[in-house]
Amino acid sequence: MRDIQAAGAFGQRISDRLAELAMMSDEPERLTRLYLGPGHRKAADLVARWMREAAMAVRIDATGNVVGRYRGQDPGPRTLMLGSHIDTVRDAGRFDGALGVVTAIEVVAAAAKAGKRYPFAIEVIAFGDEEGVRFPSTLSGAKALAGRFDLRALDEVGEDGISRRQALLAFGCDPLRLSEEALSPEHALGYVEVHIEQGPVLEKEGLPIGIVTAIDGVSRGIVDVEGVAGHAGTVPMAMRKDALTAAAEMLLAVEERARKRPNLVATIGRIEVPASAANTIPGRTRFTLDIRSPADQERLSAVNDIKALVAAIAQRRGVTAKFAIGHEVPAAVCDTRLSDELAAAIEAMGLAPRRLPSGAGHDAMAFDRLVPFAMLFVRCRGGVSHNPAEFASADDIDLAASVLASFLDRISTQ
Ligand SMILES: [Zn+2]
Repeated sequence: MRDIQAAGAFGQRISDRLAELAMMSDEPERLTRLYLGPGHRKAADLVARWMREAAMAVRIDATGNVVGRYRGQDPGPRTLMLGSHIDTVRDAGRFDGALGVVTAIEVVAAAAKAGKRYPFAIEVIAFGDEEGVRFPSTLSGAKALAGRFDLRALDEVGEDGISRRQALLAFGCDPLRLSEEALSPEHALGYVEVHIEQGPVLEKEGLPIGIVTAIDGVSRGIVDVEGVAGHAGTVPMAMRKDALTAAAEMLLAVEERARKRPNLVATIGRIEVPASAANTIPGRTRFTLDIRSPADQERLSAVNDIKALVAAIAQRRGVTAKFAIGHEVPAAVCDTRLSDELAAAIEAMGLAPRRLPSGAGHDAMAFDRLVPFAMLFVRCRGGVSHNPAEFASADDIDLAASVLASFLDRISTQ
């Protein structure tokens, strides 16, 4: 299955290129590559060069995506998309996003070197707007391809006072052509993305790679607990309506509920006690909720249960709790056929095809229910991501690239 390149060669080459790409930064001392910034410019140019060297025709589209097209056996429009993103968080690692782009380029480069064409064109896409650091909304590159970009987002302004529209123009993109980027779903065979896991599961199980079942749906909300503030010395314990201790009980109830189901996760990431003081019984407490699951029913039933638990605790403690879910995104389920082909490619290497959900969002989400998509996760050390300590080994990367190459061969014969 590694007929187009000797075993090990992918891993080293991809690792070397990731190191080179990591030099393209907005800041001299660390990797920060924000959408449409100077680091993105340099990274886009480098990626475009690698694509051209891999016999791809390259363009930068109206949202700043770098798109390399490797034509198929015939010039027809049927296209399989591969890729990931090249923007990063601030003080990032070099693997998040970039791994999927460089791996796709190298797999196409190996095919080109061997003179191999597939019965479909391949487009390798380096998306530029996945992390959502610069502007309030995100995934604009993938949304534009999916025909789902909301043109009002052009007026969004980042911290630097520059609007998305201005930033696009400065990058050489034409925002007026944005709606022309929408792909024709009937010609899109699918989208496949290689990405580091960004979590600890594969490492814990001693597995180098895994197949994503779905990108978790998310419910986000806020709970406002209101009790009665009072003097820390004068109000007896039995007579208190302490908003903070009530919230504490609620947090533990949220955790307990989430632990009941295997792929459900719930997080209280932030808690505020307004007007707090060491000698005051807290009268108000506010905390956030983030509840995720690959199955929408699981998530919605957890939200309902948590709402009821919060209400019961509030009642028993004589406080009030306002529960508001402000943001809901359904799960994006990966395509069974594409995922099964990835699994078959993994099994052919003698490895177990572990399937797991993605708790983090990815570009692929934008294609939900429009273009079939699949994702291959690569083990990362300690599950660490969004940090310079992020690491995936050349051996694991080599396996992922080999699986991707073998996957392309498999779907070519169908
Ligand atoms: Zn990413």
